[in-house]
Amino acid sequence: MMIKDKYDVVVIGAGPAGSVTARFAAENGASVLIMERDREPGIPVRCAEGVSHKGIEPYIDIDRRWIASDIDVAKLQAPNGENVKMYNNGKGYVLERRIFDTALCEVACKHGADLITKADALDLVKENGKIVGVKYKYLGEIKTVKCDIVIGADGVESRVGRWAGIDTKVSLDDMETAVQYTLCDIEIEDKTCEFYFGNEIAPGGYVWVFPKSGNTANVGIGISGDLAKEHGPKYYLDKFIAERYPRATITYTVFGGVPTAWGLEEIVRDNIMLVGDAARQVNPISGGGIVQGMIAGEICGKVAAEAVKKQKFDKKTLKAYRKNWDKRLGKNQKVIHAMKNKFMKLSDPEFNNLMKVCNSIPPEKMTVPRLFKEAVKDDPKLVMEVAKTFITAKFK
Ligand SMILES: Cc1cc2nc3c(=O)[nH]c(=O)nc-3n(C[C@H](O)[C@H](O)[C@H](O)COP(=O)(O)OP(=O)(O)OC[C@H]3O[C@@H](n4cnc5c(N)ncnc54)[C@H](O)[C@@H]3O)c2cc1C
Repeated sequence: MMIKDKYDVVVIGAGPAGSVTARFAAENGASVLIMERDREPGIPVRCAEGVSHKGIEPYIDIDRRWIASDIDVAKLQAPNGENVKMYNNGKGYVLERRIFDTALCEVACKHGADLITKADALDLVKENGKIVGVKYKYLGEIKTVKCDIVIGADGVESRVGRWAGIDTKVSLDDMETAVQYTLCDIEIEDKTCEFYFGNEIAPGGYVWVFPKSGNTANVGIGISGDLAKEHGPKYYLDKFIAERYPRATITYTVFGGVPTAWGLEEIVRDNIMLVGDAARQVNPISGGGIVQGMIAGEICGKVAAEAVKKQKFDKKTLKAYRKNWDKRLGKNQKVIHAMKNKFMKLSDPEFNNLMKVCNSIPPEKMTVPRLFKEAVKDDPKLVMEVAKTFITAKFK
């Protein structure tokens, strides 16, 4: 396909956030280019690949091609081995993201977006300080493409925001450092995502076991960046695996960061918007960012298309995205962030006790929001904040 010299919108990054943004911008009338530095969307996979059905279903027709396994149960385990099983959080999936991300990008292209892969964005093009395009490297050649709006959907290591002068830094305690192995030849519980907590297991985070098939799973760990000084996440994960799956074979290894902040102060400036991990739109407790990025992408893409219709690309116009995001999930993310600071700092005896309390709740009433309510109930200020959020928004 021939790439045009000028688009209304250039989206940098073909992850879930970028593809959904591009789709909604294109569907609402903007000309859109998606620029992806890898040879195809979705590779390399740096994700445990867990999503809820409810979260992805508005954005793509469910297709078994990109579903590795179905999930019905979430099992949480305390340091002393006591665990609680939750059956009431809706249906979930462990994805094959290398196929899912491409399928999601195809949806954007079906709605009119153009895609260029192996195109590495290098910088913004500016004229008299105004952003007018993107400089990129394609097959060894330096090129530029003009546009009115650049959308940074370039993931956790995002550079697009920094190029525009936006402060995208997050503090160490708001950045989980993560390692994951795909293990094969292991015994796993059917249709169950497992989470292991404890200060000796995963300080300030958790270990997850997400099944990909009958005997294969993504087994990973995220620990709080400020608690990773003595031992990194690999130390804890190797210990966990040596104890639990001593004979497993590792078929895939992933290192990565997960922003678990409340969000970013600035997600728009004149001619620029940030979305997904680049805008730190991630659930601060679960570290899940696929659905959050897609929801943000819908809002971002629609606002970008509206700006194109009005031919107004200033910060004031683009700020509708911030407003709508805050209303939809941004405020919720702030409360979950406050809860994270409490939940992830529980001592081992407190975790043990929390699981005991949860086990005394009838299984049909045991949900994730209920768990967090129990975890913060001795903190009246937080309880109020949580209560307010649950009244106005649903837990994502
Ligand atoms: C170990 C681990 C496990 C996780 N598990 C889960 C989970 O189970 N469930 C969940 O919901 N979330 C999970 N996450 C988080 C999830 O992976 C991210 O939140 C999600 O991928 C964010 O989507 P995105 O579109 O914002 O960014 P990404 O998916 O990171 O996509 C960004 C894209 O931008 C491209 N790009 C970057 N720079 C450039 C450039 N200069 N030029 C062109 N292209 C560029 C990249 O190649 C990439 O394709 C996990 C993260 C990690 C690290």
